[in-house]
Amino acid sequence: GVFVMGSINQDFVLRVERRPGPGETVTDAELSLHPGGKGANQSAAAALLGAEVAFLGRVGDDGLGEPLVRNLREKGVDAGLVERVAGRSTGAAFITVTPDGENAITVAPGANRALLPPDVEAARERIAASRVLVAQMEIPRETVFRGVEVASEAGTRVLLNLAPPFEVPGELLGLLDPLVVNEHEAAFLLGEPVEGVEGALAAAPELLGLGARSAVITLGPAGAVFALEGRAEHASAPRVRAVDTTGAGDAFVGALAARLAAGEALGEAVAYAVRAGAAAVTREGAQGALPTPEVVEGL
Ligand code: ADP
Repeated sequence: GVFVMGSINQDFVLRVERRPGPGETVTDAELSLHPGGKGANQSAAAALLGAEVAFLGRVGDDGLGEPLVRNLREKGVDAGLVERVAGRSTGAAFITVTPDGENAITVAPGANRALLPPDVEAARERIAASRVLVAQMEIPRETVFRGVEVASEAGTRVLLNLAPPFEVPGELLGLLDPLVVNEHEAAFLLGEPVEGVEGALAAAPELLGLGARSAVITLGPAGAVFALEGRAEHASAPRVRAVDTTGAGDAFVGALAARLAAGEALGEAVAYAVRAGAAAVTREGAQGALPTPEVVEGL
């Protein structure tokens, strides 16, 4: 199965004609609530595609947490390791979207900050019994580092989605198989722009040069490039009508993890994940747009 450790958030999406300036009030917003957080989104994506998924995360004691956990269960995720943290608020993201499609996001990590290295150690057996560990960077770094180490010691494959990006220590990079980044995150790591398929075909082997055992760079409508043992290959995404690209990266990562856990090789798994990512952009929202196997096969 797949073991996901990471963030779980309540997303508050406010559609507004224009954003208020300092000291100003705007009164015509439309609010919609969506379950979010990269960890939770990726868990849901993998589970909907048929993987057995366990999620390790933390919610607050504020009433927002319980519905988020219930939502994960409804998507087929084992949420038995999610605990409620006294005195913390559940992670929340406040997203204002203007008619030009531009969004501005404020995140309050809340209880996500309370997922600590001992919590990962307590889950050691579950991690060891899983085929793939998936993590992102919306929880404390030390917790991610510990998870990567615990998984590696147990022989569990590690997929790290380095979002948001930061300078990764070399010892950690050497345990990633694969490191998954988008163009911006790849550019951050390499200190140079990474653009388009040609740019990614050059950049992905450079990520192996930094130490990663394998690397995947997602390219939006252009699909993804992966590098393994010094060679790099491109997987194109099917052409779709993009309605909302929120969560495409999470659908991609969840699908990739599900296929790797099913025993597929990286190239095959990437070819599947680009279709899952494409399917996710054809509908609104992050988790609301996640595809089933039938939808992915249909692309
Ligand atoms: P992120 O949202 O993390 O920046 P990307 O934008 O690279 O990630 O998207 C992840 C994956 O979703 C891509 O590899 C691709 O498969 C799919 N995808 C994203 N945008 C589109 C699009 N406009 N058309 C088709 N597929 C897309």
